[in-house]
Amino acid sequence: MTQLWDPELDTRPWHEVLAWQRAQLPGYLTDLRRRSGFYADRLPEAAVADATEDDAWHQIPFLTKNDIRANQRERAEDLLLGTLQSVPNDRIVQVVGSSGTTGNPTFYGLTARDLQRWTDSLTNWITTAGVGPGNVVALTTGMPMVAGGMPYADAIRAAGATLAWVGGQTTERMCRQLELLRVDTLMGTASFVSFFSERCEQELGYPARDLPIRQILAGGEPGMAQPEARRRVLDAWGAGRLSEVMGLCDVLAGIWSQCGAGAGMHFTAARDVHVELIDPGTGEPVAWDDGALGEAVYTHLNREATPVVRYRSRDHMRVVGTSCACGRMSPRVECVGRTDDMLIYKAMNVFPGDIRDVVMDRFADRIAGPMRLRKDHADQVRFDAPIPLEVEIADLGDGALAAEIEEHVRTALRVRVAVEALEPGSIPLGMMKNALTYVRN
Ligand SMILES: [Zn+2]
Repeated sequence: MTQLWDPELDTRPWHEVLAWQRAQLPGYLTDLRRRSGFYADRLPEAAVADATEDDAWHQIPFLTKNDIRANQRERAEDLLLGTLQSVPNDRIVQVVGSSGTTGNPTFYGLTARDLQRWTDSLTNWITTAGVGPGNVVALTTGMPMVAGGMPYADAIRAAGATLAWVGGQTTERMCRQLELLRVDTLMGTASFVSFFSERCEQELGYPARDLPIRQILAGGEPGMAQPEARRRVLDAWGAGRLSEVMGLCDVLAGIWSQCGAGAGMHFTAARDVHVELIDPGTGEPVAWDDGALGEAVYTHLNREATPVVRYRSRDHMRVVGTSCACGRMSPRVECVGRTDDMLIYKAMNVFPGDIRDVVMDRFADRIAGPMRLRKDHADQVRFDAPIPLEVEIADLGDGALAAEIEEHVRTALRVRVAVEALEPGSIPLGMMKNALTYVRN
């Protein structure tokens, strides 16, 4: 039987979990209206009182990242983190920040009680991904303040594993420490775990698969749901298990996590966060059925310091399973992309991740490193000419590859790219997130 951190909620039918969450909202949100001027203005009193009813709940407005940014710019003189902050400054024990890959960073707070709940929830999340006592886990993030920093470190320790925080050092030191500390679990962004194996081989002089790494946790960005990309990472490290994980510093640093039994990620934060799926165009609810596609919307159930209510994540999720051999009852999802990242080629919508996935699906063995799409300016969404795609290829003499990639992308997605073949190592490998798009300077 699989190890469950929270068997009571993890094995409860999903519709019962959602109802149990909604039952807490009238009390929690009524209290929130009392202690927060921001939410007192924003949440209609009658809708809060009847929040267990769908009609009332759907009258509560969505909160967006732009609302939060505006709110933090207001810098209410007595509130450290803007008007979203719903407790006095002296109750905040930690600040968590976004990495700011899509704009100015935003900051969130935790009270002592928030930190307890947050760590408990993160422990469920990392346990689901297979981490527990006996594992030596290398954390490769270099930034303590972001979701993948302190919060991941707390989760590793709370799950009973050994934390080896190797991030933030030179590549050479990190590789040597994987070897010296007999690390068996590697935790990093999807692009980092995909390409760090080659850097290790260069530093150590032997293949990364000869290191004792047996499982990998890949988070921070989508990309590890695609079978060919998974196979490639598992082979490179000689690992038996790859778990995709995901979280948001605005909500909780880890909320979706892949178990050892099925594809996609379970929702692991049921005790602390209510989750909805909506149609991103109309805002209408989408049911958690197999194959459903929608944007995830989150509401805290107990956060004291900086709660979010009906927060639109901009993450588009596809439900890939509603039951699982591991015993967990929460739906399994794949993240297919972010609204913010979506591009338009002529009249076609396309996520950069779709392009990466179809390229990796066919050509993984001939590609040497990350790839990225080039924009002329940060706000560029529309492309009328083929979208420039920079790809590190294994053999620059492989003259046919660029044309083959262009043809395959056009057939699979009806989108044209213009491939520029680069030498291995040309694209900087981020330890936080490797953006799939960048702006030419
Ligand atoms: Zn499962």
